Order: sequence, then structure tokens, then C-alpha cells
Amino acid sequence: GSDAIGLDIGGTKTHGIRLRNGAVIAEAVAGSANVQNVSVEAARASLADVFTRLGTRGVTRVIAGSGGVDTEQDAAALRALISTHVPDAAVDVVHDTRLILAAGSASEGIAVIAGTGSVAWGTNAAGRQARSGGWGYLLGDEGSGYWIGREAVRHSLRLNNLGREPDALSTALLQAVDLSNPTELIGLFHGGTDRRYWAGKAGLVFEAARAGSPAATDIVHTAAEHLAGLTTDVARLLKISGPVVVGGGLGMHQPLFQDLLRTRLNAAGLADVRYLNQDPVLGTAYLLGTERAGHGS
Ligand code: BGC
Repeated sequence: GSDAIGLDIGGTKTHGIRLRNGAVIAEAVAGSANVQNVSVEAARASLADVFTRLGTRGVTRVIAGSGGVDTEQDAAALRALISTHVPDAAVDVVHDTRLILAAGSASEGIAVIAGTGSVAWGTNAAGRQARSGGWGYLLGDEGSGYWIGREAVRHSLRLNNLGREPDALSTALLQAVDLSNPTELIGLFHGGTDRRYWAGKAGLVFEAARAGSPAATDIVHTAAEHLAGLTTDVARLLKISGPVVVGGGLGMHQPLFQDLLRTRLNAAGLADVRYLNQDPVLGTAYLLGTERAGHGS
């Protein structure tokens, strides 16, 4: 028979599944193979790991979704890395937003990622596509986990500059990064930490917000505002009102964020907001299914 492999190449991990007739027959998780986040060598090693564990014999088709794939050159580079493992397979590389919409079993609508990075992308019934944001952490990623972690750092530094004692948010942050003085955050931020590290601190900001910290509340509200803005941009461009499928760590696992985003989207006329409750890699199975049914490319 002939099998397919689906990959979700995130900033933190590479999740792979092996599919036979649409059913998952094997699964593997390896390190990140996202070249926006790790070196090409590390990406190579992660891909080798995941393909070894899934097995490549009899594999004729690979679909991979990845962040940071913005141009045809980006896609070609990733395709080349993948093809060395499966030289005889047809390999497609798509942007990670495609997997979110597909994992939500939608062929039209808006995919929102609120994870380490952030982005909104959508497609309408006529096949028109639009995107807002998703430019990476140096240029944007507003409202993302990284952005939230960085805002907490900036807040702590501002308080310190004003000669004020650390508040609840600042205290929680310093504790989490194991520092005693806010000024040490500057060095930590610029040396030896990456965007995954700071995205990992978003959780404590939500916790502080739930506990009533005004600063944390302000940050998470602003984050939801940003994500809602990206989403309504795409809705307007495509003249659609949903469905909106939200993925990423914050989008899938942070109830306070989900509530704040839903409120804003509903107010903007987007009533059908779904938080993804299955793994985005399963979006590859959906894409292969529509392809088999003759609707794909
Ligand atoms: C990347 C985008 C990606 C988004 C969500 C951003 O940092 O630049 O390509 O879609 O994160 O994963």
C-alpha cells in the first residue's frame, strides 16, 4: 500500500503522523525543525528523528505545515530538507495556519494562531485568501505568548525606573526567571534566552490577571485586542464572518484568553468562534482527505 506522512513543524516541536487510508497508524514527536527558530543543522536532526521513528518505506506523500513559510523560496527550502528522507514522495509545504483551519474541519473560514507567535489567515468560498500579521517576533507577533512575556518584562522595568516596588506581576516574573532585581531582566532578555523562553512566561501573566493584578489584566486585554484586530482584518478582506478557528497554546489552553477574544470577535459580528480541541497535525489528514476526494490540488 502507500502511506502518507503529516508534519506540524512548530517553534518548539515537530509532530509527525503516519497515515494509511486516512487513519493514523504511527505518531512521533521530535525537536523543532522550524528554521525561523532553530539552526538548519538542528532542523535536519529533528526531521531525521521524526522520519526514522515513523518509517519512510512505502511513503508516497508528505504534507508539512510550518510557521515562517512566507515565500515560495521558504517552502522550497523546507521541501528540500524533507525530501532527502523521502526522495520518491510528493512533498507539499504549507503555512501553519492551513493546518489550524483543516484541523477544525473547515475548508473556508479564518485560522488564528495565538501561540509563541501570532497570525490570522483565511480563505473564502471563492478560494480567495488573506492574511494579517504573522511577521515573526522581530516585526510583529502582537498578542502572542512571546509578546505577553515581553510586556511583563517591560512592565517590571518601567516600575523599577519609576522607583516603585515590584507589584504582583513583577514579583511573579522575577521569581519565575530566578532573579532578584528587575534590572537583571535586561541582560537575561538579550543573552541566552529565546522567544520560546519568554512565551513560556505568558502563563504567569494570565495567573496574575486572574488574581487581580491591574498590570497583568491590561496586558492580556491588549493581547486579545491585537488578535481580534488581526482576525477582523481578514474577515473584512474576505467579506466573511467565520468560522474562526483558533489554535496555538493560548488559543487552545488559556480560558481567560479565549473569553476575552470571543467577546471581542462576537462584538465585531464574528459569532462562530471555535477553539481547536484536537492536535493541529491532524489537519494534514483532513487536507489529504479533501485531496483524495478530488477537491484538492
Ligand atoms: C511566524 C508565522 C506563524 C506564526 C504562528 C510567527 O512567528 O512568523 O509564520 O504563522 O508565528 O505560528
